[in-house]
Amino acid sequence: MTDRQMRAVLYARKSNKQDRTEEQSASVGDQLTRGRAYATERGWQVVGEFTDDGRSGLLDRTKRPGLDSALSLIEAGDADVIVTLWTSRLSREERQRAEILDLLDFLKVEWHAVADGGRIDRSTYAGYVTYGIHTLFDVAYSKRVGENWRNAHQKRIDAGLPKSRSPRFGYRWDGDERAFVVHDAEADAVRELYRRYTRGDGFTQLVKWLNDAGWRVAGTENPWSVRTLNRFMDNGFAAGFISREDDLRDLRGAHDPIISETAWLAYRAERERRAEFGKKASGAGERWWLAGVVKCGRCGGPTYVDSFKRPDGKSSVMCSNRRSNPDSCAGVTILRAYVEDAVGLWLGGHLDQLDALSKGERRATADTAADVFGAAVAGRDKIIDGLADLEESRLLQDIEPAVYRRTKDRLTARLRDAERAVKEAAASLEAPEADTTLLRGCATDGKWNADGRAALRGVLARVEVGKDALTILPVIGEPVTLARSAMHGRCKIDGCGKRERTKGLCTSHSMRARNLGILDELARRVAESVEAPGPTITVEQVDALFASAHEAASA
Ligand SMILES: [Zn+2]
Ligand SMILES: [Zn+2]
Repeated sequence: MTDRQMRAVLYARKSNKQDRTEEQSASVGDQLTRGRAYATERGWQVVGEFTDDGRSGLLDRTKRPGLDSALSLIEAGDADVIVTLWTSRLSREERQRAEILDLLDFLKVEWHAVADGGRIDRSTYAGYVTYGIHTLFDVAYSKRVGENWRNAHQKRIDAGLPKSRSPRFGYRWDGDERAFVVHDAEADAVRELYRRYTRGDGFTQLVKWLNDAGWRVAGTENPWSVRTLNRFMDNGFAAGFISREDDLRDLRGAHDPIISETAWLAYRAERERRAEFGKKASGAGERWWLAGVVKCGRCGGPTYVDSFKRPDGKSSVMCSNRRSNPDSCAGVTILRAYVEDAVGLWLGGHLDQLDALSKGERRATADTAADVFGAAVAGRDKIIDGLADLEESRLLQDIEPAVYRRTKDRLTARLRDAERAVKEAAASLEAPEADTTLLRGCATDGKWNADGRAALRGVLARVEVGKDALTILPVIGEPVTLARSAMHGRCKIDGCGKRERTKGLCTSHSMRARNLGILDELARRVAESVEAPGPTITVEQVDALFASAHEAASA
């Protein structure tokens, strides 16, 4: 290097920490200025200047474009020395810093930290000690900030135990192993509980079944109640979880799960479905057969029926999110009868298709359902990882509070969607084989009992109501989209065919009748002619009627 000028690459980094120390608050511009002066003093040629503004020193080069460019230049053999203001600018992560230093050593590139004594040379004893001390402090800084957060979480995760050792139904506490072990007979009952609930049983029925079979609340002689069963099934211990409070994800316990993850998710999906429906709809004596299936196409949220007391043609399905917060969704409204007719019509044809499927084809669709579930879980876990990273950045004060809040809101909203997708996929996986005979029976006489509703969930995943269209998403097969305009009725006056607006009449016929004061009379006569055998009132007859009403009015 003596026979030609040294080529220097400058690198500067500033994190978003709200820290007033000079090392933390010096801007990348100031860092570069000092680096440039340092290089000029030594007669070096500056061949590149790279910065990462607002990036943590814990991030590796894939997440620091400036560092990546600087190292790429070095790897290409275009620089002989890298200059930073402090050692901490290069990296705060021990293993990663060692990797960068190995790269520099291997390529015979020097590292100079201007404010930390100049050259950091690991090849001499003194240099290595200097390097070690700087690394210790730089890394310790990050560790100290993250410590409290990590400790609290890690302790619980490491132990894999719930907060209390109180008895759990389905398990026995093994004092020697210091672990909960599965109790076979109780475990069978637990599996049956979740299965029955997912297939349509209510808690009252489950409590009766459990008590009749002689099972008692774990560790007591007390019979089960709705409240105790509710709490037991909701806490997820039987699915292998130990705590669901204050956590971004369910914590896996050290004990073996009794029910599968899909059975657990299907239970939660069904639980939310019923909770959602329980809050709504006056007059729904029997559970509506499409409850929980119809979603708002704008926001993806649930819907409710305004009132079951009104006749079918008048009661509407509307977006629940809009009702609770008008800012959250522009909302959708659709007549309940339209949804029921559309699904009813679709169902007939769909059941024929299902019957025509061979065994092999059915198995293939089951595989698809498993793939969909796997993809949904992977998608959800990615968001959870993102949230964990975000929390870490916040605890390291490595992110502006406003950016943190915005990002957190966005990720939390996406997590809600992702969790819904996971649960829906699980529900499809757990759905019983479609009982087409049962479904045909229910659809034909319009009576949907619990078995029928459970079977319907095995074939119909979701109905989305959009502004202009209604989409039916089957568990197996392609979605079907229907234009809402096609679902509206037509003017009942023979020969008109325009879209119905009110009382069986189109806009123009109803307006003209209203102006002449004969709207109700016309509507009644048209309706009667539709009901009665024989021809329906024609456009010509109505024109004559209007003419005579006009004469009578002007006379
Ligand atoms: Zn909505
Ligand atoms: Zn008309």
